[in-house]
Amino acid sequence: PQSMIWSQVDDYMNELLIPEDKALEDALQANAEAGLPSYDVTPNQGKFLQLLLQIQGASRVLEIGTLGGYSTIWMARALPEHGRIVTLESEAKHAAVAESNLTRAGLMHKVDLRTGPALATLPDVKEDYPEPFDLIFIDADKPSNPDYLRWALRLTRPGSLIIGDNIVRDGEVIHAASTDPRVQGVRTFLEHIGNHPRLEAVALQTVGSKGYDGFVMARVTDAPLTK
Ligand code: SAM
Repeated sequence: PQSMIWSQVDDYMNELLIPEDKALEDALQANAEAGLPSYDVTPNQGKFLQLLLQIQGASRVLEIGTLGGYSTIWMARALPEHGRIVTLESEAKHAAVAESNLTRAGLMHKVDLRTGPALATLPDVKEDYPEPFDLIFIDADKPSNPDYLRWALRLTRPGSLIIGDNIVRDGEVIHAASTDPRVQGVRTFLEHIGNHPRLEAVALQTVGSKGYDGFVMARVTDAPLTK
């Protein structure tokens, strides 16, 4: 099947470009041992996020959907010493594994991990972080994506990046009549991004070791270039 070649090409390129990394491998192993689902980003997606943080010069990052903290490790490493990544996770078990992984990786001092449904913890995040976030990574329950977008707009400034993962879902996203609430959540999310006068965005499809999917990246602007 097609996905085999995608996986092999990921392996080939990752071997050349992404050094073996004990903290990240240990985290994936601890996640598996704790029975967490393997919905983590792939190594090359993690590195892509890390590079985006560096390009952005990000020191304040918000992640919605921590799981075992795999993507959090990638991003926390790109932060300056005074930087912070706030990461929100609804499942206490996932958060506990993430805390242990981030501690083992020596990164917990840069991480503010909050347990509870994100829509319940976001108001406190806004209170506790009056300065805008430089980058927001949305990677939790997809039906809530339109709500997360509203929050992301409140928590950012012109120049901030908002990234939404898993927006292709094996192509399901094109089905307007889909009864899958995740597909509808993603569709509404993309529509709101497309219609928003202060967002410049693009969506890219991806293939690789985790199959066929994609992400959307939006930049908050004062003055859109093209609308
Ligand atoms: N970002 C992680 C990574 O790449 O390593 C993967 C996150 S996984 C795709 C989604 C996570 O969002 C799960 O751990 C799930 O428990 C969590 N989640 C689901 N609903 C949530 C909610 N309402 N608030 C916060 N987290 C939620």
